[in-house]
Amino acid sequence: MSEEKFPVEISPVYEGERIRKEDMFVELGGPNVQYKWELVQAKPMDEVEDGKVSIIGPDLNQLEEGKYYPYGVLVEVAGAQVEKDLESVIERRIHDFSNYVEGYMHLNQRYDIWCRVSKKAYRKGLNSFKWIGKALIRLFKAELPFIEKMQVTFYTDPEKVKELYEFALKVYEARDARTRGIRDEDVDTFYSCVLCQSFAPQHVCIITPNRVSLCGAINWFDARAAARVDPKGPVIPVPKGECIDPIRGEYTGANECVEKRSLGANKRFWLYSAFGYPHTSCGCFETIAFYIPEVDGFGCVDRGFKGPTVNGLPFSTMATQVGGGIQSEGFLGLGVEYYRSPKFFQADGGWGRIAWIASTLKERIKDAIPPELVDKIPTEKEVSSIEELKKFLVEKGHPLAEVIKAKEAEEAKVAEAVAAEAAPPTVTPTVPMEGVVAAPSVGGIRISFSGAKIKVGKLVIVK
Ligand code: SF4
Repeated sequence: MSEEKFPVEISPVYEGERIRKEDMFVELGGPNVQYKWELVQAKPMDEVEDGKVSIIGPDLNQLEEGKYYPYGVLVEVAGAQVEKDLESVIERRIHDFSNYVEGYMHLNQRYDIWCRVSKKAYRKGLNSFKWIGKALIRLFKAELPFIEKMQVTFYTDPEKVKELYEFALKVYEARDARTRGIRDEDVDTFYSCVLCQSFAPQHVCIITPNRVSLCGAINWFDARAAARVDPKGPVIPVPKGECIDPIRGEYTGANECVEKRSLGANKRFWLYSAFGYPHTSCGCFETIAFYIPEVDGFGCVDRGFKGPTVNGLPFSTMATQVGGGIQSEGFLGLGVEYYRSPKFFQADGGWGRIAWIASTLKERIKDAIPPELVDKIPTEKEVSSIEELKKFLVEKGHPLAEVIKAKEAEEAKVAEAVAAEAAPPTVTPTVPMEGVVAAPSVGGIRISFSGAKIKVGKLVIVK
């Protein structure tokens, strides 16, 4: 490790630091570039040079201020206890350790990282990726002592970033596929993670074989490995306890853990429902499922989707409603792999309750959608408003079509009743009144009607 002094501070106090666009020197990854990733690989001891930091492509001081760049971060680790199962969990820690670096902001995970370097930090001397690499190595080895050797490579060469992006996607997919063969009923221990409490203090993730973490980066196997090698870390085992409700997915052990780790803010979780006591969300979710009352179904959108969803709101607006560790009925932050879970929306009607999916997400999870529903669930390419959505679902015979028709019939009835009430009163005399009724004057006539329908053919007012 170099003896050089770090140009910026490295401390957990910088974890919540946000770098706004006008304050950024450069943006690395993020929504403006297609290719970005971070990846941890477990390696044999002789393939890792401890403390080495490499840069493939231009270094920070060769990048142009105010611009966006493709970005990849490869972390290679070795140690007697370092195994493949730990890769995801080590990878997820890149997020919090990166945020310890003053003037370096890191958001999201895997293929979706979004980083910024601030102008202020750059001027202070954070002008090379070597500083970020050295900080990561120092923090990882201090916090996770089972890592004996570590090297970091930063990629900014667009071709190389793209090449390794394809490789990284295959690694993520292989990790995700591991839990597909087991069910929540097959295990007696779930896991809980509170790594995101630095951003959402009352948020607790419960990770089960059939419910991947909402960041998508930690599945049940990853969590199990993390709890084993780092028992004092953010991931701990959760004895399942008694199953209170197998359909909604409520377990005494999970409830006790949520109450304890959220410091009493939340007390119950229904793991397979968006209603009642839904799982909380921090801010790292890969996708959002949102309730659409007009069709009594859900829409689903991923972070990569740019435009407005079918309810007119973009991902970013809904993210503020979903996140923060608060239980918000009808809104869920979800990992992409959860769409493949046999417990997917189990208590709420499963896939039959999904009314709309952003095309970017639909493309990724097409294999998980029951074949008979693939063409019945529209994207923004088929419908762009709730009215169009209703029409589409009814025309295609979506499972929600009957609900929509019943709702429309009910709405028509209500509209009719309202119109009748709002119409000018029709007065039909029950007692024929002929002649002239004098207008009230001193000594005139006062007529009061109660419960009468009055029809006036002609009204003449004589002064
Ligand atoms: S989203 Fe959940 S599992 Fe993922 S890092 Fe945050 S707390 Fe942990």
